[in-house]
Amino acid sequence: MKINTKCIQSGYKPKNGEARILPIWQSTTFKYDSSDEMGQLFDLKKSGYFYSRLANPTCDAVAAKIADLEGGVAAMLTSSGQAANLIALFNIVSAGQHIVSSSAIYGGTFNLLGVTMKKMGIDVTFVDPDATEEELDAAFRPETRAVFAESISNPALAVLDFEKFVSVAHKHGVPLVVDNTFPTPINCRPFEFGVDIVTHATTKYMDGHAMTIGGVIVDSGNFDWEAHADKYPGLTTPDFSYHGTTYTKQFGKLAYITKATAQLMRDLGSIQAPQNAFLINIGLETLALRMKRHCENALAVAEYLSKHPKVTWVNYPGLPGNRYYDLAKKYMPNGTCGVVSFGIKGGREAATRFMDALRLAAIVTHVADARTCVLHPASTTHRQLTDKQLEECKTPADLVRFSVGIEDVDDIIADLAQALDRA
Ligand SMILES: *Cc1c(COP(=O)(O)O)cnc(C)c1O
Repeated sequence: MKINTKCIQSGYKPKNGEARILPIWQSTTFKYDSSDEMGQLFDLKKSGYFYSRLANPTCDAVAAKIADLEGGVAAMLTSSGQAANLIALFNIVSAGQHIVSSSAIYGGTFNLLGVTMKKMGIDVTFVDPDATEEELDAAFRPETRAVFAESISNPALAVLDFEKFVSVAHKHGVPLVVDNTFPTPINCRPFEFGVDIVTHATTKYMDGHAMTIGGVIVDSGNFDWEAHADKYPGLTTPDFSYHGTTYTKQFGKLAYITKATAQLMRDLGSIQAPQNAFLINIGLETLALRMKRHCENALAVAEYLSKHPKVTWVNYPGLPGNRYYDLAKKYMPNGTCGVVSFGIKGGREAATRFMDALRLAAIVTHVADARTCVLHPASTTHRQLTDKQLEECKTPADLVRFSVGIEDVDDIIADLAQALDRA
């Protein structure tokens, strides 16, 4: 099936006489006739549901749809995008080990890696995503266990050079984990370029309506853990918290997601609620339609802004002349995302006046949903920083992050025009 069809048809497959629409299995637990049967489930000897912290049929159907959209073998939903990235990495990296990560990543993930995982004994080296292969090589250590990057970074909008990152990660015998939130599988399928594991904040375009916080981890099934068994004993040697199960032996290509579910979700408990999974599924049904419209509208907005006398610079990877335009055309030829950033003449004060004058675009701490929304980092999320510090973290005082929605683009541009007049 083509991806537009998968958005609608994948995942839930009702049998004869069953509900047409994915039911919400609003139950913490599942009933069995004998304790022996339930015991077999606990031992992972049989598959089935027993407690919704580990698995729930509504969540599983949505995970299966996302796995299919990405072209992976299995997926696991999490309570947030943050939980997805934590579990995706912690599943293969432990205390005393090391991660190489692109520095152009979401602020929350930057803190997760640089502060919180450090407290867990896991070290990180941040690398410039535009660094050469030799510079990337230099960041690796004998104890490196994963490479992390974003396909289109939030908010810098840097497009990942997949070929370069895949090549370096695999040369060092470790998987590449990519957060694919911004382009979504509609515009970019990282597994096709050799990426091993994909994560998403489903909170953004997948949900698409700003209804639910959520995340997902998808495994390509392609990384050969057994070939690097010395690096990944958690997957290739017996897990005594599961009666000596060896995930690679018992589950083959499903080893990584089975371990993440049976071990980490069991212990860390950051599961998606079935109600929310149901809502994400409704979002997924229109994902292909919405992404097309987001990209068309964002390109028109970027073109309009790039000609406006009050706009000093525009950053949109789909705009010809952008430094990532060629990479975007190579890896996401049908479009990138709906997020555009730009600078306003007059810096912080002008940007604030512009923000306050907007009528259609709403000021929110969010990106990537159906409604056009806008954020001025220097006066909100980054307001503690001086102008010099803002420059250093590539978020200058005049930067406006504009998340283009799926309204009529004429109305979005008219709103920009009147607000720029007042800036
Ligand atoms: C929002 C976001 C996250 C975090 O997702 P939450 O659901 O807010 O925890 C992670 N990565 C990217 C790229 C994001 O945009």
